[in-house]
Amino acid sequence: MAETVKKRIAIYGSTGSIGTQALEVIAANEQLFSVEILTAHHNDELLVKQALRFKPNMVVIGDEKKYHKVKEALAKTDTKVFTGEKALEETAAMDCYDMMLAAIVGFAGLKPTLCAIDNGKMVALANKETLVVAGDIVMKRAVEKRVPLIPVDSEHSAIFQCLVGETRNKVEKVVLTASGGPFLGKKPNFLVNVKRDHALQHPNWAMGAKITIDSATLMNKGLEMIEAKWLFNLTPEQVQVVVHPQSIIHSMVMFEDGSIKAQMGLPDMKLPIQYALAFPYRLPNDFPRYDFKKPNTLSFEEPDIKTFRNLALAIEALNKGGNLPCVLNAANEIAVFAFLRNRLGFLDMTDLIEKTMQKTTFIKNPGLDDYFESDGEARSYAASLIHL
Ligand code: NAD
Ligand code: MG
Repeated sequence: MAETVKKRIAIYGSTGSIGTQALEVIAANEQLFSVEILTAHHNDELLVKQALRFKPNMVVIGDEKKYHKVKEALAKTDTKVFTGEKALEETAAMDCYDMMLAAIVGFAGLKPTLCAIDNGKMVALANKETLVVAGDIVMKRAVEKRVPLIPVDSEHSAIFQCLVGETRNKVEKVVLTASGGPFLGKKPNFLVNVKRDHALQHPNWAMGAKITIDSATLMNKGLEMIEAKWLFNLTPEQVQVVVHPQSIIHSMVMFEDGSIKAQMGLPDMKLPIQYALAFPYRLPNDFPRYDFKKPNTLSFEEPDIKTFRNLALAIEALNKGGNLPCVLNAANEIAVFAFLRNRLGFLDMTDLIEKTMQKTTFIKNPGLDDYFESDGEARSYAASLIHL
């Protein structure tokens, strides 16, 4: 990487799976990056530890009850401490950073990401829900502000990498690979008894709890189809999913001549995180390499959307558009929350999402306020069904 001035990074959601891995990447490349903002929702202890290590300009602890503890722990440092939801937006609107890594999980990531875009800052986007909920608005604002949105999600990073140097060439379709999750090949009679601890065991990736459950239900791939549509300006028909259990090909682009480009590597989120942080440069590292000398099989199969109906619901939302992806996302967040607390069965998550999609008011051309209203309406309805 040829730059001498350090890129100033703000990590929203620094205590999560993506956030902590991003700090590992930064720690290995401190000549290239400085850490300016770190934010966490509840985990004050880890946030303080990170702040003492990386000396950011400011931190935000979401949970207001923990403000004084964090403030006290950082009293002898130059790090400013803020708290509350509004502080996420206020800090994102500041000038002290160059790139936001949007690594908050769920709908909560939307507002800070929009603030960063409005502020003209580059965004490395891990928070897929932002594009699922309001992809049209987010992409439009990014174009208006000339803000590069660099995907961190491994599939989208793969597609992004395949598209480098191809601006003049037409994409026929993109092919998102799915590992299939821990229940690949299982049928409803098995899934009906699945409990949280089993669903939290992903075969290839170690991730936060919500995305791990989404991977087990295949909702994650549905959210990613919607994310891909917005990021790469595609029609629903141009987005295909294929199950590839080895997670070596991270996704592919088929061009109009039928030629296919794939991006490959071992499943390690540090790779797409590093690519997004350093873009347009690649950085050397000592991550393990894929070994072609070992016996290898790369296989592909159709996803079973009759069993994993969350994916079918997401495809329906992708096709219908409007506020339906926002409603799908809200209902799914409630469903996963309840499942993780043993309040809802594995297959019941799908029923909850389906009912919420049927019940919530459909809006064909929503504005930003409509998305917030639809999110609220869908959440209340879904929660009422399970007495949350
Ligand atoms: P995680 O649960 O491990 O971490 C989430 C982070 O967001 C934490 O720092 C937490 O403090 C913060 N947070 C949670 N709720 C919040 C709220 N209401 N307000 C403010 N902050 C809040 O999640 P993760 O696995 O790191 O995933 C983060 C995002 O990246 C998700 O949108 C996920 O879909 C996406 N993503 C993750 C991976 C992965 O490998 N983990 C891969 C691709 C995409
Ligand atoms: Mg992914």
